[in-house]
Amino acid sequence: MTVKTELLGFEETLGEKVIKAGLCAGCGSCVLNCPFWVIGFRDGKPTLIDECPVCGVCAQVCPRYSFDVEAVEKFAFGRSRKADEEFGVVKRMVLARSKDPEVLEVCQDGGLVSSLLITAVEKGLVEGAVLSGVKEGVPCYPDMRVAYSKAEILACAGSRYTFSDRLVLGTGVAGAFWMARSSKYAFVGLPCQVQAVRLMQMLPNPPVNWSEAVRYVIGLFCTETFTYDGLRAYLASQGMELEDVRKMNIKAGKLVVEFGTGEVKELALEPLMEYRREGCEACWDFSAEFADISIGSLGLEGWNIALIRSERGEELFRAAVEAGMLETRPVEEEPNVLKVLRRLTRRKRRRAEARRS
Ligand SMILES: Cc1cc2nc3c(=O)[nH]c(=O)nc-3n(C[C@H](O)[C@H](O)[C@H](O)COP(=O)(O)OP(=O)(O)OC[C@H]3O[C@@H](n4cnc5c(N)ncnc54)[C@H](O)[C@@H]3O)c2cc1C
Ligand code: SF4
Ligand code: SF4
Ligand code: SF4
Repeated sequence: MTVKTELLGFEETLGEKVIKAGLCAGCGSCVLNCPFWVIGFRDGKPTLIDECPVCGVCAQVCPRYSFDVEAVEKFAFGRSRKADEEFGVVKRMVLARSKDPEVLEVCQDGGLVSSLLITAVEKGLVEGAVLSGVKEGVPCYPDMRVAYSKAEILACAGSRYTFSDRLVLGTGVAGAFWMARSSKYAFVGLPCQVQAVRLMQMLPNPPVNWSEAVRYVIGLFCTETFTYDGLRAYLASQGMELEDVRKMNIKAGKLVVEFGTGEVKELALEPLMEYRREGCEACWDFSAEFADISIGSLGLEGWNIALIRSERGEELFRAAVEAGMLETRPVEEEPNVLKVLRRLTRRKRRRAEARRS
């Protein structure tokens, strides 16, 4: 199954219908996949840096140009969602948290993401993982990382509410090693980045077999991300410096900021909306609906909810359980959690519909 091929150039497709329309998610998939290397990134947006030979590839890998939900689901899961599957194709849902104290020390919620990655690397299911980490010396500034060990995975743990525009570009590393020695990698990304990776995997005759190179696609739930400068400015307006922050969390309409000193402050989230990235407003995917396994917390303290969507997602989750990395509970023990998931899913769809209408 492949997405529709249109032989149109960059300006007619992405330039007009995505970037000028304010819909660009900034995922970088077009930049990575242009066979002629004529797309560059400027201020988080793709731009032509040389003449476009009109091959149509960039439009095929752009999640904001024409994203065929049914085709992507059939490709990733072997079937499209049923009418009652509001959160996309789901094999099963489960609550989980890490049993590893080193993971629990640094993770955002229950440490499920890091535990899956550590299992995948240590059990040899993948060679490494393409992740969003933090740029050295610039707190909270997102940067792409390729992690090959537990220490490198844990160095990326925690959530940054800023956007890694180099993350999808980082799958190029996985692609290069797949070509060199058939290596496999895991990928962790936000829903727009997961969509981009799926479209890459669906490309007809790509130079890299992306389905093999990116063996596991782990998606994070996401409502929005903010510009780095905006986040810094908002904290500064409250007398805070990003340099002093150990962890941030968004909970019940508040930005909860934890400092290195152990002090915790709650800020109103609303003023930060001024700095929400433009491309997030048209985004309808809350629960990373096209990942092998989608993970969030939905307000659970120290636990994650996992939506296992594919056979690969099941394989990875099972490996982590068998490795003794995870404690699990049935979702039914937290009846409120599905109500929250439904509310956030619907709210994001409504916001996107309003933006696109
Ligand atoms: C921008 C953002 C918004 C989110 N919004 C929600 C929400 O509304 N509701 C909800 O339930 N959950 C949300 N999440 C997911 C949640 O914050 C946790 O990431 C998730 O519960 C996994 O927790 P963990 O303890 O398993 O993660 P950890 O084991 O700590 O691992 C976290 C992983 O996230 C990756 N990561 C961190 N920041 C980014 C980023 N900016 N882009 C890509 N990858 C990143 C890291 O590389 C790491 O691998 C959001 C996450 C992010 C990054
Ligand atoms: S050469 Fe192809 S992929 Fe590159 S910008 Fe032009 S149409 Fe897009
Ligand atoms: S959404 Fe991604 S693929 Fe589409 S134009 Fe923006 S950066 Fe390129
Ligand atoms: S809301 Fe999240 S998934 Fe959607 S475009 Fe923004 S960062 Fe990407």
